[in-house]
Amino acid sequence: MSPRLVAVSNRISSVRGAPLAGGLAVALVDALREKRGLWFGWSGKTADQSTDTANVSQEGDVTLATVDLSQEDHDAYYSGFANRCLWPLFHFRLDLTGYDRAHFEAYQRVNRRFAGALSPLLRDDDLIWVHDYHLFPLGSELRRLGVTQRLGFFLHIPFPPRELLTTLPQHRSLVRSLFDYDLVGFQIEDDVKRLASYVEQDLGGTVGDGWMEAFGRRLNIRAFPVGIDTARYHDFAFSSHGQREYLRLREFLRDRDQIIGVDRLDYSKGLVRRMNAYELLLESQAAAHGRITYLQIAPISRGEVAAYQDFRRELEQHAANINGRFGQVDWVPIRYVNEAIPRRRLAGLYRASRVGLVTPMRDGMNLVAKEYVAAQDEKDPGVLVLSRFAGAAQQMRDALLVNPYDTEEVAGALEQARTMPLDERRNRHHKLMEGLLRDDVSDWRRRFLEALG
Ligand code: UDP
Repeated sequence: MSPRLVAVSNRISSVRGAPLAGGLAVALVDALREKRGLWFGWSGKTADQSTDTANVSQEGDVTLATVDLSQEDHDAYYSGFANRCLWPLFHFRLDLTGYDRAHFEAYQRVNRRFAGALSPLLRDDDLIWVHDYHLFPLGSELRRLGVTQRLGFFLHIPFPPRELLTTLPQHRSLVRSLFDYDLVGFQIEDDVKRLASYVEQDLGGTVGDGWMEAFGRRLNIRAFPVGIDTARYHDFAFSSHGQREYLRLREFLRDRDQIIGVDRLDYSKGLVRRMNAYELLLESQAAAHGRITYLQIAPISRGEVAAYQDFRRELEQHAANINGRFGQVDWVPIRYVNEAIPRRRLAGLYRASRVGLVTPMRDGMNLVAKEYVAAQDEKDPGVLVLSRFAGAAQQMRDALLVNPYDTEEVAGALEQARTMPLDERRNRHHKLMEGLLRDDVSDWRRRFLEALG
C-alpha cells in the first residue's frame, strides 16, 4: 500500500465547498482526497486556551485534525510573526516588516504545540508534507519528539535575498529549521539560488545541484513550481456555473471589453500601481473610453494587520477618483469589489474578460495568472498581462510580461492586449495552455512526493 499523506498547513478549511480564497488550500485538497490523507492545522477558531490535543473528524476520504488557538497565541504567531514579519520580509518589503521577539517566541510555541498534537496521530509509513512560512520550525519540533518519518516542506511564497533575510534577528534559527526536513521545495529556481547564497556566504556551507550542506547536515532542495488543475479549471468555465456567470457578465458588458484582476487584498499584489497604469491608459487612449472596463475583485484579507487597513483605504480612494475623473453616465471605468467569489463562478468571469491583469510586485507563484489562461475559449482567447516578479512568469513566457513598477510599460501592455489581433491571441494562448496542461497540479505533487518518498 502506498504511504498515507499527512499535510500540515496553518489553517485548514472544509474540504467540501466554501470559497477557497487561497492558492494553497486549492492545491492541497485534491492530493488529500486522492491519498485518503490526514490534514492537520489550526481550526480557524480561537478559544480561552490553545488546545494540546487535536480534534479529529472525517470528511469523505480525508481525515481532518485541528487545534484551537488562544487569541493571544493567534495574534502573536499568525498576525504577528507570520504576517507582520515573515510575509512582508519575504515579499521584499522591509519598510513594512515588524521585528518583535515576543512574536517570534509565540511562533515557536505554536509550532511546538502543533508538533505535540500531531505526533500521536502519525503512523510509521506516513509521508509528512508541511506547508508554508507559518511552519518553518515544525519539522525540528517533530524531530525533537522522535518523529523519524519522511518530512517535506514547501514554501509557497518567495525566498528573500540574503541582504534582506539577515535583517531578521532569528534568520539563523529559521534557516536551521529547514535542515531538519528531508526535502525542501521552493517555487522557482531563483528562490533556491537566494537561499544558496545565504548558505554559502552567511553559514560557510556548501551548495550543489539539488542539495546544500550546513550545520553538519545535508538538505535536499529543489524548485517545484506549483500548478493548477488545468483541464478541470477549463471545464469550470464552460460548465453550468461558469456558463451562467459568463452569459450574465457578457450581457451586462454588451460590446465592452473587460480587464479583470483577482487578488486577495494584499499590498504585495501591486493594486495601487495597477490602478495607476489603468488611469494612464485612460489618459493616453481616448479611444478606450466607454469601450473598456476594469473589474477588480479583491476579497479582504488579514484585516487585523494595520498595514492592510491603510492600504485598503488608499485603494478605495483611488478607484473612486478614477471613476470620478473619467466616468460617464452610462460607463463606469472601474468596478472594485471586496466580495470573495467561489472558484467556479470566477472561471466564468475570467472567460468573459478580454484581458487578465496580474501585476504583483512580488509573488511566490500566482495561481490567478494560470486560472485566467485555463478559463479562456481557445477560439477567441483573452490576453494575460503578467508581472515579471510573479513566480508564474518563469513558466508563462508567452504572456505580455511587464515590470509592475513601470506604470508606462503596464499601460502600454494593456493597450497592446486590448487591440491584439485574433491570430496572435490564439498563438500565445495555445503555447501558454500547452505549458499549463503539462505542468499541472497533479504533476507538481507527484514530483514533490516522489522526491520525498
Ligand atoms: N480566489 C477565489 N475567490 C476570490 C479570489 C481568489 O477563489 O474571490 C482564489 C483564486 O482563484 C486562486 C487563489 O484564490 O486560486 C489565489 O491564489 P494566488 O496564488 O493567486 O494568490 P494568494 O492568495 O495565494 O497569494
